[in-house]
This record gives sequence, structure tokens and C-alpha cells, in this order.
Amino acid sequence: MGSLAKGISLVRHRFFSANPFFLVFHITARCNARCAFCFNWEHVQQARERPELTLEEIARLTARLGPLYQLTLSGGEPFLRRDLPDIIRLFATDCGLQTLTIPTNGMLPARIGASLERALADNPGVHIRLGLSTPEIGPELEAVYQVRNAFAKHQESAALLTALACKYSNLTLTAATLCTAANAGRIRDILAHVRRQMPGFISQLALVRGSLTDDSLKQLDPALARELFRIHRAIFPEDDNRPLAGLLNVLGDSVNEYSLACLERTAPWIPCRCGDRLVVLYDNGDVFPCEYLDRPLGNVRAADFDLKAVLASPQARATVDWIIREHCQCTWECASFVNFFYSPLNMARVLIRYASRPAPPRAVGVVDGDGTS
Ligand code: SF4
Ligand code: SF4
Repeated sequence: MGSLAKGISLVRHRFFSANPFFLVFHITARCNARCAFCFNWEHVQQARERPELTLEEIARLTARLGPLYQLTLSGGEPFLRRDLPDIIRLFATDCGLQTLTIPTNGMLPARIGASLERALADNPGVHIRLGLSTPEIGPELEAVYQVRNAFAKHQESAALLTALACKYSNLTLTAATLCTAANAGRIRDILAHVRRQMPGFISQLALVRGSLTDDSLKQLDPALARELFRIHRAIFPEDDNRPLAGLLNVLGDSVNEYSLACLERTAPWIPCRCGDRLVVLYDNGDVFPCEYLDRPLGNVRAADFDLKAVLASPQARATVDWIIREHCQCTWECASFVNFFYSPLNMARVLIRYASRPAPPRAVGVVDGDGTS
């Protein structure tokens, strides 16, 4: 599906649907890595005791959900679920899903390749954005993931994904780097590696967030973070192959600037639409407004798998009111993306910026150095 069709669908969801626009679904808490920056660590540790929603239960949920534009299937490690392609198929057929993001740590190359290829072939109308986590390169990745031969597995996954991107136009590859106090000094090297050694990948930089086992990772100097984002944009100036990529990239830049301003505590408040337009569903059916607020909205198992009934409950409405009343604010890019999209003033600014930007350069091969020259 091209940009025009996606654009029409985007407008329809924005203006004519009362459904959530963006669902983050942690389909499993199981993970084969052990990252110190994991914001979901408590669930990962308790994975064995957490009863995951089964495929049959997910089918009951999608049957009642209605239209959905953006879905993120996260974890844990989402590819640990062998029924991942079946889950994607349910959202595509029952909810008319338009765009899907799947983050992965890349530690299961063969499974990732096979599972993703099935999903791409089965759902040509769904544009899939595969985010290969790249918090480090070389032997340091083994230390971060605590997985033997982590970098070799990561690069094997990258090569398989590059081959899939050549075959399927509904796939975009990103190398997702979480910027922490631990890797800030190595971000330039990581970005250069992505540019040189991971063909077909666009880098995605994000700020560390959430409550971590090692909170010192969040002690990131705001000025350094700002500089790293500038370098990132210099190295990766071009648009990717997503429908509406130009507009989405301008929106992404605006969101990044907002996150940096939040880090510097200078950002104006934008109403957060979590619990309403963005919703987080966990592996055990718990529903939360976002990944950070410890204010559950309910559980889909207790609501006969009707997510909209959970969101309409007094408990959920009270939390949504609380978010607005307290001017809740944070650096989570997914929430900011939705918040911009539902803020007429900020979306107008994004559109003006998009209309007045110079034509982006075409995708290039390798940029020498840190892209600053
Ligand atoms: S790969 Fe993701 S889910 Fe697993 S430990 Fe690392 S950050 Fe957490
Ligand atoms: S501002 Fe952040 S913490 Fe608050 S509700 Fe939104 S995403 Fe959650």
C-alpha cells in the first residue's frame, strides 16, 4: 500500500475513529538477554509465573477491537513466541492494521528470519518496521546482553534482515540504539558501524527511560545528548522507504527535540493521550496507559477480552483525567509521537516544517567520520 492510501487511512483514524490509534502489546515477558537498561526488567524476571495471553485469547481480543493504525509487538523478546506471525495475521485481518513495529535483540537469527518472512508474505498491506536493538557493537554487546557470541548473532540477524528488505518492499529496517550514560561516548562508533556495515538499515536513536535496575544509566548530560542527536541526523539525513516517510521523519525530529527539551526540563506541556489514543497491553492481559505509570486500567481477561470496555471503565477514565490534570510529561518517544499527532497546534507546526524543508538527500552508502565535516 502506497503513501496515498496510508495517508487516507491515517486521516481516517485521526479524525473519524474513537479507537486507540497506537497499541503497544508486550506479547511475552520472556527474554534471552539481560540488559541493565531494561525498563521491563521486573516482568522479564517473573516471566515464568506470568500467564501469557494465548493465541486463542488474542483472537478474541482482535475480534472485538476494531480498527487500529499502529501496533508495536514487544517483549521480552517477541520472536520467542513461535506464533508471532499468527498474532500479526489476526491484527491485520481483524483490525485492518496499517503499520507494525517489532523490536528485537537479534539473538535468534534463524527464527527472526523465518518468522518475519512469513509475516511479510502473509500481510503485504501491513508495513513492518523491524527495530534491531543495537546498543553496542563488537565484544561490548556480549557484556550488555549477557549472551555469548552476541555480536556474531546480531550481525547474522542483520544480514538476514538486509536480504529480506531487498525482497519485501513492506519492510523497513532500523538499528535502534538506546542512548545511556554508559554508551554515550561510543554512540559515534555505533552510528558509523550501522552506516558502514549494516546495509539497508536506518539508525534510530532514543533516550534511556523508565525505572531501571541501574538508574545511573539515566545520568545523561543533556548537552551531550543534544549533540549526539545532531550527529545522528548528519549521518542519517535521508528518508527511509516507509509510506509517508518524509512526514514521519519530520515528526520524529520534532519528537526528538521535545524529548531533549524534557531532559533539559524546558519543554512546554503537551496533553498526553496515553490511556486513550495510546494503550499498553501486557503479556498477562494487564492494561496500562503507558510503560511508566504504575496505574493499571484493568485486565482484558476480566473484561471478556474487550479492550475498549477496559478503557471505558471508571478506573481507566479516572487515570486519563489524572494524566491531564497533573500535566504528566516524560521523554517516551511513542507517547510524544501520538501527543503531537493529536495536538492541532503542534501538528500544524510539523506540517509547516515538512512543507518548507529542503529536499532530503537520496540514501547514501557510507559517510566518513562522524558526519560533522
Ligand atoms: S532485550 Fe529488551 S526485553 Fe530483553 S532484557 Fe534487553 S531490554 Fe529487556
Ligand atoms: S507523560 Fe509519560 S509517564 Fe505520563 S502518561 Fe504520558 S507516557 Fe505515561
